Amino acid sequence: MPADAGRKPPHRIPPRPDRVRRIAGGFAFVPNDFLHQGFFASLSHAERSLYFFLVLAGDRNGVSFYAYDRICDALELSQDEYLVVRKSLIDKDLIAFDGDDTLWHNERSFRHGRDRFRAILADAGFALPEDTIESVVNEIEVQNLPFFGYGVSSFTLSLIEAAVGLTNGQIAARHIDAIVAVAKTMITSEVELFPAVKPALASLSRRYPLVLITKGDLLHQRSKLTRSGLERYFRYVEVVSDKTPEVYAAILERLGIRAGRFLMVGNSLKSDILPVVEAGGWAVHVPAAVSWSHEDAESPAHLHGRFVEVPALERVPDAISTLVRTSPSRRAAPAAGRRRPGAGSRRS
Ligand SMILES: [Mg+2]
Repeated sequence: MPADAGRKPPHRIPPRPDRVRRIAGGFAFVPNDFLHQGFFASLSHAERSLYFFLVLAGDRNGVSFYAYDRICDALELSQDEYLVVRKSLIDKDLIAFDGDDTLWHNERSFRHGRDRFRAILADAGFALPEDTIESVVNEIEVQNLPFFGYGVSSFTLSLIEAAVGLTNGQIAARHIDAIVAVAKTMITSEVELFPAVKPALASLSRRYPLVLITKGDLLHQRSKLTRSGLERYFRYVEVVSDKTPEVYAAILERLGIRAGRFLMVGNSLKSDILPVVEAGGWAVHVPAAVSWSHEDAESPAHLHGRFVEVPALERVPDAISTLVRTSPSRRAAPAAGRRRPGAGSRRS
């Protein structure tokens, strides 16, 4: 949200009050978001001209009945220029980024949380095998996803449930308190970005509107975005409870973007890549060195042409440029990977 959002504009006397616009007859309006959300800055002069002409000429449903030659005359555009500009307005793109383990480190915080959990159990007198604890925690976490979703809050409830189960209800309140303290540490810990995140986002945000689409706790994810210094690069932020084709389709419908003009960048095949390409979009897969085993997925062969895999975030702008150059079909090179081993770990 812009820093001046909500601030009352200063009162100024018009230089010619007699020319203040009065609404009479037809009335066309353009939402303030057109300026404040970056649409205006993203358009060329010709695109702005055509957009405003169509706003003025359109009926209440936004439909203009002006023939293209009259529009070309009015805007002093050649037919070829008009077709390019019109197509550009229609084909507005949207690039989305996942946050956790795509832009910033996340999984190792959960790994550390599990280490602390085992230490708390040991301190409470329950020195259980590491494999046993890991297996129980993982099973409870997955079982709890439909109830609590993703994020630290859900993780914490699962740890408490695991502690009660692993100790046959003998865990003391002070140890439950210690588990909650672990969660608070996770939520307030420093946000550590992957290399080249800012240059990549700065480059892409100059050419495309960007949206962050992330699972997890709303408060925590918003806080991480703010503290990371990346907020300025994103026109939209979507914190969702899950990443399914239906969730992506709903976001695109709300933002007025066709699936074929949408591209998602993320570390999880299961959450960031497959549901997007299944919904008709495109994707760039940036595997994380450490990720949750729950996010592992097989990669169906018929989807390989719709996403590319790159080894690091700094390669993403080039990968997107390659996809754009091959537009409109945007045939992408087959993905190099077929399955990401999750290294026995966690979330997206
Ligand atoms: Mg992720």
